[in-house]
Amino acid sequence: MSKKYVYLFSEGNREMRNLLGGKGANLAEMTGLGLPVPQGFTVTTEACTRYYDDGKKIASEIEAEIFSYVAELEKMADKKFGDTNDPMLVSVRSGARASMPGMMDTILNLGLNDVVVEGFAKLTNNPRFAYDSYRRFIQMFSDVVMDVPKSNFEKIIDEMKEERGIKLDTEFSAEDLKEMFTRFKTYFKEQKGFDFPQEPRSQLLESVKAVFRSWDNPRANYYRRMNDIPYSWGTAVNVQLMVFGNMGDDSGTGVAFSRNPSTGENKLYGEFLMNAQGEDVVAGIRTPMSIDKLNELMPEVYTQFAETAKKLENHYRDMQDMEFTIEKGKLYMLQTRNGKRTAASALRVACDLVKEGLRTPQEAVAMIDPKSLDALLHPQFDDKALKAAKAIGAGLPASPGAACGRVVFTAEDVVEWYNKGERKLILCRLETSPEDIEGMNLASGILTVRGGMTSHAAVVARGMGRCCVAGCGEINMHEGEKYFTLGGVTVKEGDYISLNGGTGNIYAEAIPTVDAQIGGDFETIMKWADEFRQLKIRTNADTPRDAAQAVQFGAEGIGLCRTEHMFFEADRIKAMREMILSSTEEQRRAALAKLLPMQRGDFEGIYEAMQGFPVTIRYLDPPLHEFLPTNEDDIAALADEMGMKADEVKSVISGLHEFNPMMGFRGCRLTVAYPEIAEMQTRAVIEAAVNIQKKHPEWKMVPEIMIPLVGEARELAFVREIVVKTADEIIKESGIALEYLVGTMIEIPRACVTADEVAQNADFFSFGTNDLTQMGFGFSRDDAGNFLGHYYDRKIYESDPFARFDQAGIGKLVATAVELGKKTKPGLKLGVCGEHGGDPSSIEFFHNVGLMYVSCSPFRVPIARLAAAQAALKNPRK
Ligand code: ADP
Ligand code: MG
Ligand code: MG
Repeated sequence: MSKKYVYLFSEGNREMRNLLGGKGANLAEMTGLGLPVPQGFTVTTEACTRYYDDGKKIASEIEAEIFSYVAELEKMADKKFGDTNDPMLVSVRSGARASMPGMMDTILNLGLNDVVVEGFAKLTNNPRFAYDSYRRFIQMFSDVVMDVPKSNFEKIIDEMKEERGIKLDTEFSAEDLKEMFTRFKTYFKEQKGFDFPQEPRSQLLESVKAVFRSWDNPRANYYRRMNDIPYSWGTAVNVQLMVFGNMGDDSGTGVAFSRNPSTGENKLYGEFLMNAQGEDVVAGIRTPMSIDKLNELMPEVYTQFAETAKKLENHYRDMQDMEFTIEKGKLYMLQTRNGKRTAASALRVACDLVKEGLRTPQEAVAMIDPKSLDALLHPQFDDKALKAAKAIGAGLPASPGAACGRVVFTAEDVVEWYNKGERKLILCRLETSPEDIEGMNLASGILTVRGGMTSHAAVVARGMGRCCVAGCGEINMHEGEKYFTLGGVTVKEGDYISLNGGTGNIYAEAIPTVDAQIGGDFETIMKWADEFRQLKIRTNADTPRDAAQAVQFGAEGIGLCRTEHMFFEADRIKAMREMILSSTEEQRRAALAKLLPMQRGDFEGIYEAMQGFPVTIRYLDPPLHEFLPTNEDDIAALADEMGMKADEVKSVISGLHEFNPMMGFRGCRLTVAYPEIAEMQTRAVIEAAVNIQKKHPEWKMVPEIMIPLVGEARELAFVREIVVKTADEIIKESGIALEYLVGTMIEIPRACVTADEVAQNADFFSFGTNDLTQMGFGFSRDDAGNFLGHYYDRKIYESDPFARFDQAGIGKLVATAVELGKKTKPGLKLGVCGEHGGDPSSIEFFHNVGLMYVSCSPFRVPIARLAAAQAALKNPRK
């Protein structure tokens, strides 16, 4: 039998998400639960993949299958497609495996044409409604399928409103709407050069193709990259019988969450509009009513909906995000899915579900997106400053958090300002649309004039953990001229404003922020995560302050303490430069002797902050020219100080010049050339540890010395000997039995493939995945930005290998090094200290490959704890 590409809703269920997409699988599941779902069928994601494989064509057998299901649906509906008396009308809805909100547009009322609409008007005895439905269809079909933008039709609507002196869509008469769709069609023909398609079957086929095409549009590609959704998944298409929320005052449409998506409160939360269709609620054209109001207007429908919400929640055992339509007093369910939520809401819902007995702690831990915690851990407004500030206005608190930054008026401007280095930006728009997604992601906050709590801006901002204030109708917005006025204040591009995503308040000033307060649900989830995970979580920290912050976030050690940052402070850089400019070993030793007490003091501070947790200290890594001045004045000053001629300093600098500094004289190569550097650093590490050990006998100090950039076993053996000799002398003198480890950072491919030899002189390996990625791919992370965009466009790479670890290639290097290293030393300590240590999908890989710890920046420690727990739950190790 040939492959099946189309399924009736009654043939599917929620397990078939990969094939039917999220929307289709859940429509099928709701059908199975006996809920009132308008029936229909789903064209599978495999049909989409096949469409691309076939060179963007729908194969004839798939086309035939679609139309046999149209016939099936006609039987179920007892209506016929294109019937002039009683037509079958459908919606065409996209739906990928993972929900991609607003990424691909829905077409409603498909099946109408010039003749059918008249029959439909007679049948419903409601010409106004029929014409309204047709003009909407023309608009949506033109926009999604024919590339004639919706907004151009909105202009025609605005013109007609002006001509008639009316404000609201609802004030148009039937005749007006007839004229409207006639004007739409004329406009369409002007734009496209052919008549608006009249044949329902070709309307349908073209729509299906358009949905498939939309899988590859730029905003879908961007969203996927941001959310790690593979291109290969494809999208399904749902074809569903229409129900009508725009049939009069006993009809309506809405969206609701079974719990509050901002706070997690266990209370129905949502919005609806009477006499409206589809996108009206989220488009922000009319301001919707709160779902509570439905209880007053239609108590029976409200009760039925509330019960349905509970039923779905118990069935899916998670908070649901539902779309519904009421047609002449009858409720229809059009969608359900696990609701997107803020991190605070996610934590509360997960903990509540455990309390309610619906979920186990393991499931609760697995439910939370580790990346979302980021928003919680970041600063909030300083309470005092906030109280002292005076709001100039308020909108809806659409997505929590505090944002303070400079105002820009388009998403492109956000990108432009951001690329110029401005990190604090607030995007202010009349309303946002899916094209704005990149700018929204880079902005610190989003402010809109139109739209409710479920508007595009609100939904997307919550998903990203971005602060958002939406629907501030009092703003007098001049996007074109780049300014707005609110509460008597004029705010221009570049001005600072602050947004409070918790209250909706807007301030025309910069309000300082303070560190986040983390609540009880967070602690509960973290406690569970710590029970389940098998990886240890360390942090990358170079200062006592960062170290203390990381300990507070639950770090169990430092995986990477970079020593070079310590040399950049004013008093130290001098001694450092002296060392670099030395022409004899003696001079060099004198300069290093000045650095020793400073470095020892730094390490003592860090050891104290880490309270006895292990600390891995990496020896000097960057090329030496980084420490020397570049401009004439500074060079002259330095020469003065050193009692040298400016030309002599310049010749040292030019002597250090390298064509490719990333692959130059750096890392352990420095120690090979100047062993006294490693001697000094060893003194600092060990003496500091001895001092702290004496001060805190309750801690067991075992400093870990990490030699960077090793590519050859003998290189490490050479450096190790210097370290061991120096350390053992100090320990002997100290009279205490201090232990220490000497290991290496694995960041050169050659070290990975010769790891069995390297391990002979290493007590531990720590994978430096930044350099390993750089050296493995052969491009630098500072330059990759120039060309990676082309690689994304051409689907050669789907994501930035510096952000998301490349398991297929660099992962093999890591796995090889692990295997070879353990062959030499079964007990070899293994960790990772590159930025990937804080990325959830990378953490899963590191868990699976058998590392003992990951190390990441302090703010990512909680993310790593949670991600490590999820990895362990998914694939427990012995
Ligand atoms: P999105 O994924 O952007 O939410 P949907 O496919 O869910 O797009 O469609 C958006 C809205 O269109 C729905 O919430 C619903 O109000 C309306 N809609 C879709 N299909 C139908 C239908 N068969 N009958 C009535 N309204 C529909
Ligand atoms: Mg929807
Ligand atoms: Mg490195």
